[in-house]
Amino acid sequence: MFDNLSDKLDKAFHILKGHGKITEVNVADTLKEVRRALLDADVNFKIAKDFTNIVKEKALGQEVLTTLQPGQLMIKIVKDELTQLMGGEAAGINLSGNPSVILMSGLQGSGKTTFSGKLANFLKTKKNKKPLLVACDVYRPAAINQLHVVGDQLGIEVYSEEGNNNPVQIAENAIKHAKANGFNVVIVDTAGRLAVDEEMMTEIANIHKATTPHETLFVVDSMTGQDAVNTAKAFNDRLNFDGVILTKLDGDTRGGAAISIKSVVNKPIKFIGTGEKMDAIDVFYPDRMADRILG
Ligand code: GDP
Repeated sequence: MFDNLSDKLDKAFHILKGHGKITEVNVADTLKEVRRALLDADVNFKIAKDFTNIVKEKALGQEVLTTLQPGQLMIKIVKDELTQLMGGEAAGINLSGNPSVILMSGLQGSGKTTFSGKLANFLKTKKNKKPLLVACDVYRPAAINQLHVVGDQLGIEVYSEEGNNNPVQIAENAIKHAKANGFNVVIVDTAGRLAVDEEMMTEIANIHKATTPHETLFVVDSMTGQDAVNTAKAFNDRLNFDGVILTKLDGDTRGGAAISIKSVVNKPIKFIGTGEKMDAIDVFYPDRMADRILG
């Protein structure tokens, strides 16, 4: 995960190693490399620039200039700022409803169906919840089957309605079914398209309006870098979602989406997907991610 970025940042900090103290010149050299590393990681230009400016301000503060180990302090400043950039604290999800409705949104192939299963399993095994999965992709029978396969594997019920092509109605009926049968979480998997289009946005907005979810989550493939950030913006403009799910982090060597998405949409990353298996789900901790990036 993020190997390229970690290597490049490590090289950037090497500039300071062997120096007894840090000066404006070697701070500038280091930060030039840090900025280059961020840009190579597919972080947006303005975010990378603002980031290095903040680090520079802090690094040139007295504390750093007088410290005996300037390299270590520089790494600490970068780590703290990366943590802030990625959201600071870990963000929980709202499970206050009975049932709590969780609406999944995102493009086709982003990992929505897989993540719906992972989340249901996480809530069942770690939070002692009784989740119901709901298949609302009325266009692709394969997607409905996929959710049933996932549900069977996990021993979690999947609600679907064969022959009904109205996803709003299916979602509403699923919530009624959940209430009548003691499910306390309803996870609604919706249809995505290959790119943002008006029809998909209208449909998800209608489901959102009808179900008034406690959590609206946007699922995105981290390997798509700045495209992930742009898609997040489009969905957030329409849905004002509550959090981001970054999938396929196991295959992401760059890290641009993880680093920039929070500051672009001002919504926290809540979970990450780190593999195809149902247990490859982690709560997102900005500080732990910063640690991983900096090694
Ligand atoms: P959807 O169209 O948004 O519902 O996407 P799917 O859930 O069908 O996922 C698309 C593909 O990505 C599938 O082959 C999944 O196995 C794979 N996938 C989903 N999440 C992850 C992940 O975190 N890591 C990896 N490596 N693959 C994933």
